[in-house]
Amino acid sequence: MYDYLIVGAGFAGSVLAERLASQLGKRVLLVDRRNHIGGNAFDHYNDDGILVHKYGPHIFHTNSLEVFEYLGQFTAWRPYEHRVQASVDGQLVPIPINLDTINKLYGLNFDSFGIEEFFKKVAVEVPQVRTSEDVVISKVGRELYEKFFKNYTKKQWGMDPSELDASVAARIPARTNRDDRYFTDTYQAMPLFGYTRMFERMLDHPNIHILLNTDYRELEGEINYREMIYTGPIDEFFDFCYGKLPYRSLEFKHETHGIPVFQPASVVNYPNEQLYTRITEFKYLTGQEHPKTSIVYEFPLSEGDPYYPVPKPENKELYEKYKALADAMPNMHFVGRLATYRYYNMDQVTAQALTMFKKLSGEKREQPVQVRTDPATQKHIHSFEMAHKMHSNGHTVITRPS
Ligand code: FAD
Ligand code: UDP
Repeated sequence: MYDYLIVGAGFAGSVLAERLASQLGKRVLLVDRRNHIGGNAFDHYNDDGILVHKYGPHIFHTNSLEVFEYLGQFTAWRPYEHRVQASVDGQLVPIPINLDTINKLYGLNFDSFGIEEFFKKVAVEVPQVRTSEDVVISKVGRELYEKFFKNYTKKQWGMDPSELDASVAARIPARTNRDDRYFTDTYQAMPLFGYTRMFERMLDHPNIHILLNTDYRELEGEINYREMIYTGPIDEFFDFCYGKLPYRSLEFKHETHGIPVFQPASVVNYPNEQLYTRITEFKYLTGQEHPKTSIVYEFPLSEGDPYYPVPKPENKELYEKYKALADAMPNMHFVGRLATYRYYNMDQVTAQALTMFKKLSGEKREQPVQVRTDPATQKHIHSFEMAHKMHSNGHTVITRPS
């Protein structure tokens, strides 16, 4: 009998598994259909021994001391401030757009006051900032919008920025100073030994059992549990009964080159000419020293694994219909980027999961969900052990099958 069945071993599911087991002594079964823990933040050493992020660059940043300290129990941190260049008009310039971006792009020599005047002159007056187009043109005008945002956004989201909520492009500010950091959060750091190592330590608890390569639906009728926490796509949970929620997907093309450095920044964005949006070189993020270097290209796709919820009003409306179904289900909890259809960063998902934990720990115990036990469950547990040994190269074994 498990107290909780948790679907998804990403940030949402792993944080909740860790809290419920370590703080409340709950017995947790954590299930993921992938062959690894960590969800989209999973990293691993590739064939050349370079630490890479399987699902694209994951940079940790937060303003929440609570989140930073919570995760810090499971990892040491490597201080890291992210900096990105954009390839525009044949040059590499800093993005977010700042003083140096404008001076380099136009061969000018503005100071901060000059650039403020420049932005005022080119900015387009927008009565109500609603879309991603509005948010950019109202700050830096149409020309810079077209060079840096319009095509990148069309490529990434498959739609014009005028169709997308302001919140998407608002992630990228415009600056009148020379600050070239991608994020300005108080805490910016990478897990010293990688995300997967951090997840392994979070989940290393005798009350947590992990099944990989397992869709939770395969377990129906095979295990007993009192409550379920679901962190996958919410529309899929309800068999798409109101239709599919749109997600954007990506294809990741990983390469290793026999040179120590591939590009001059950890990430180079390609808004215009290329089919990919950006190239990431991992050694900048991880600090690893190695004679070779590994990179990843991101090619946006409309079909494939759901990576990004698409923030726009009609999608929110559809999500709300699914949420109403979710809210009406006793003993069921939906947490995470896909289950709550929010364009959340890792720290926001962690905070959401910690909040859910507080709610659950205050709730009185509900009636157990009665289901049949079946020896088939053991088969899954064994297959997990195999898979885990393969991916962790014999590092810590994180499950203790009963
Ligand atoms: P996920 O990590 O998606 O985990 C959900 C898990 O549920 C998955 O492992 C899935 O296999 C499993 N699952 C789903 N359905 C089932 C089922 N039926 N049965 C069993 N298992 C199931 N955030 C940042 O803070 N900084 C960044 O730099 C950053 N970069 C990103 C780059 C990319 C390309 C992407 C896609 C995201 C990025 N993010 C970044 C966001 C970050 O990945 C998410 O905030 C975080 O990983 C979400 O965690 P989660 O647990 O909600 O979901
Ligand atoms: N964006 C853009 N040009 C850039 C960088 C970002 O148009 O050079 C827009 C684009 O719509 C992108 C959004 O801003 O999807 C958010 O960018 P971010 O780098 O935060 O995306 P993520 O890392 O989540 O993919």
